[in-house]
Amino acid sequence: MKIASKEISAVSLVQEALDKAKKYADYNIFISMNEEAALNRAKEIDAKIAKGEKVGRLAGVPYACKDNFLSKQGATTAASKILEPLKAPLDATAIEKLEKEGAIMIGRVNLDAFAHGSSTENSYFGVTKNSADTTRVAGGSSGGSAVAVALDIVPFATGTDTGGSIRQPASFNGIYGIKPTYGTISRYGVVAMASSLDCVGFLARSAEDLDLLMEICAGQDPKDLTTLPDYYVNREVKEPKKIGVIKDFDSDAIDSTIRGALKQKLDELKSDGYEIVDLEMPILKYALAVYYIICPAEVTSNLSRYDGIRYGYRSDEAKAVDEIFGKTRSDGFMPENKRRIMVGNFVLSSGFYDAYFLKAMKARTLIIQAFEDAFKKCDVILAPVSPNPAFKIGEKVNDPVAMYMEDILSVTLNLAGVPGVAIPVGKTESGLPLGLQLIGPRRSDKSLLAFAGKIGNSLDKEGA
Ligand code: GLN
Repeated sequence: MKIASKEISAVSLVQEALDKAKKYADYNIFISMNEEAALNRAKEIDAKIAKGEKVGRLAGVPYACKDNFLSKQGATTAASKILEPLKAPLDATAIEKLEKEGAIMIGRVNLDAFAHGSSTENSYFGVTKNSADTTRVAGGSSGGSAVAVALDIVPFATGTDTGGSIRQPASFNGIYGIKPTYGTISRYGVVAMASSLDCVGFLARSAEDLDLLMEICAGQDPKDLTTLPDYYVNREVKEPKKIGVIKDFDSDAIDSTIRGALKQKLDELKSDGYEIVDLEMPILKYALAVYYIICPAEVTSNLSRYDGIRYGYRSDEAKAVDEIFGKTRSDGFMPENKRRIMVGNFVLSSGFYDAYFLKAMKARTLIIQAFEDAFKKCDVILAPVSPNPAFKIGEKVNDPVAMYMEDILSVTLNLAGVPGVAIPVGKTESGLPLGLQLIGPRRSDKSLLAFAGKIGNSLDKEGA
């Protein structure tokens, strides 16, 4: 708003964001910067405003792009060696929509390679440090996005969430993040992880900003046949009355700081007149196992296209064609990518398909039904995002199962296709951010964000 009314120029706003990005270089947030192009776009926008021409709703607003969205600006690496040389020939639909409204990408930010992970420690470009404690992880996979917003380098960043990758880093850094209903925002031009779980969303400093981004980016896209007909724009907001609590999530495996934050928020809501409803959802104890069958199965098929022939990196050591495939993939993927390829092939192979993949798909249906039943009893659910606040760098990276356990509370939403909004609710005694997630029925995203804005902590914010 301040830009359109000429209080601040787009150039000074973009320059400030670029300067802050440099100041925080030690956090290892950005994989590549877009300095020259960003300043040129800002100049164009200032010139339009000076001439009194109409500008978009995000005119001159700088943002950070998770490095798994294709865009003609710079390389798209997905934080991997295998895609490092990739120059994308197109813009992802979400990027196209943001840019059309005048948003300016200042750079591309870190993630776990191909979004496989919960800490950014699986990135080919090294770990991103947490905004509140540099000995701890940013969370992941959208760790770069979360820290860029939390340190106020940019007001928002793009993210993808396949099993928690927006919500968990948002809560590790004390900001807001939305994983929309499956199919709300086009996945066209986004490096695929697991196509039936992947959701495009955003991380920002307020639920209101997330709402604007959803207004801009939600909608059907002929280039992504899984997108829903638009239900978001200008939809009426419904205030919830009954708040559900998943009793099965209340276990000793969840850190006392997180359980304390949940209890405190529920007490507040109760005294504000909301009804608290206990939910029994025993099927959710299988959710993590189901996710770590379905997700690798889809990963395996999505990663098969990276063979050293069609895109990106090719190993120089290879001579014959079959060597090109093997050497390129062995050298170009990170260990976690390979682990998922192996597990995915295993659960899909004949003899194991029925025992693992088919069974997981049946359990997924039961998880979908459990959420449908839950939303007959309550309007929204309030739950933790992760079992603990940000953990130490190196603490879990050599123990894949411990790392997978991080996702125990977040993957259920992706399996069910329902929306979730991470909200900041406070800090531990040592200053680590604490987050919770609001979960709603499919297509309730707008109401969920309105409620998130009402009950989440507000962050100091200079309006752009
Ligand atoms: N941490 C989860 C995983 O490793 C989710 C990742 C994501 O949402 N992209 O699969």
